[in-house]
Amino acid sequence: MVLPYGRQSIDEGDVAAVVEALRSDWLTTGPEVDRFEAAIAARAGVEHAISVTSGTAALHVAYAAADLQPGDEVVTTPLTFVATAAGAALHGAKIVFADVDPVTGNLDPQAAEAAVTDRTRVVAGVDYAGVPVDAPALRDLASRKEILFLEDAAHSIGSTLDGVPVGALADITTYSFFPTKNMTTAEGGAVVTADATLAARARSFKNHGLVRDRALQRHPDEGPWHQEVHAFGLNYRLPDVLATLGTNQLARLDAFVARRAAVKALYDEAFAGIDELELPTAPAGAAPAWHLYPLRVPAERRRAIFESLREQGIGVQVNYIPAYWHPVFEDLGYQRGMCPVAEDYYRREISLPMFPDLTDADVERVVAAVRHAVATVR
Ligand SMILES: *Cc1c(COP(=O)(O)O)cnc(C)c1O
Repeated sequence: MVLPYGRQSIDEGDVAAVVEALRSDWLTTGPEVDRFEAAIAARAGVEHAISVTSGTAALHVAYAAADLQPGDEVVTTPLTFVATAAGAALHGAKIVFADVDPVTGNLDPQAAEAAVTDRTRVVAGVDYAGVPVDAPALRDLASRKEILFLEDAAHSIGSTLDGVPVGALADITTYSFFPTKNMTTAEGGAVVTADATLAARARSFKNHGLVRDRALQRHPDEGPWHQEVHAFGLNYRLPDVLATLGTNQLARLDAFVARRAAVKALYDEAFAGIDELELPTAPAGAAPAWHLYPLRVPAERRRAIFESLREQGIGVQVNYIPAYWHPVFEDLGYQRGMCPVAEDYYRREISLPMFPDLTDADVERVVAAVRHAVATVR
């Protein structure tokens, strides 16, 4: 059996919650959505949580909440899944990539600052592998430049920085609940923020821009059925059936995070003496929910080691091809070499299996396969 690099953990409580929702009066927006959003907000340590249908939708919604307009610029990291950039590009924004920190792979605040112009509206960091971005520096940059600090926390629900949960670090934060992420709703995501204006705009955009509050309507006397649209939106509503799974998963998140930390410690110990390997580390003050275990190997041997691991039944992955290498950016004139630190990180990276149901025996199997690949592959 191939060990995947990530996968969900579903228990009988998760199954029972979904079955119960299926038998209720609500399949889509109902009481379970409210319950899940309240639980997510509490976990994030902010007032507002808006559930949506994916982490990608969360980004699209968060950029809408930021009121991103065509021609505005967004400064972000290339070491991410393309959705971090796509969500802004779909609002007509220009994406400006800034390089990453060589240790964490997270957006380098100095590089971000150098990329800011008078058209910049948002600086968007990503908590690569679960390690929180340098939020104090990015927050300081955002407030000095009067721009918004967005955190793509697709990898990092459950992480903290100096005791502050990811969700309360940035102006607006997005989560993904895809099965490989730290907790799941099958497909799903959320936007969290302490700012009521951002929250209201996010809520509006995920539900067609519908205005139901009569006090806010332009034509409130139209009739009791009336609802109206003031700005275009989409339908990104997470169904009750999935929200209830999310509530149950959130209650299990601490256990997931603890097991991820234990797996990381096992890998760290096993690989400590192998010179060719660079292991992931977190800066002081960070307590990551390790979403990935990004191992770094010599660039010239990465492909062969990767292929050897796949041949040995280890479902490794590479996270990520620099976002501007995608043809969609190439066709816009973005050139390789723009962010050399991120490119070097990419060239050496292999993500090992990392998920809560990974057993100690599974970890041993991965360790043996890595040792074999590193010792034999040239
Ligand atoms: C997974 C992921 C997303 C997108 O989330 P989906 O739920 O798959 O749409 C966005 N950004 C990052 C960094 C991710 O890892």
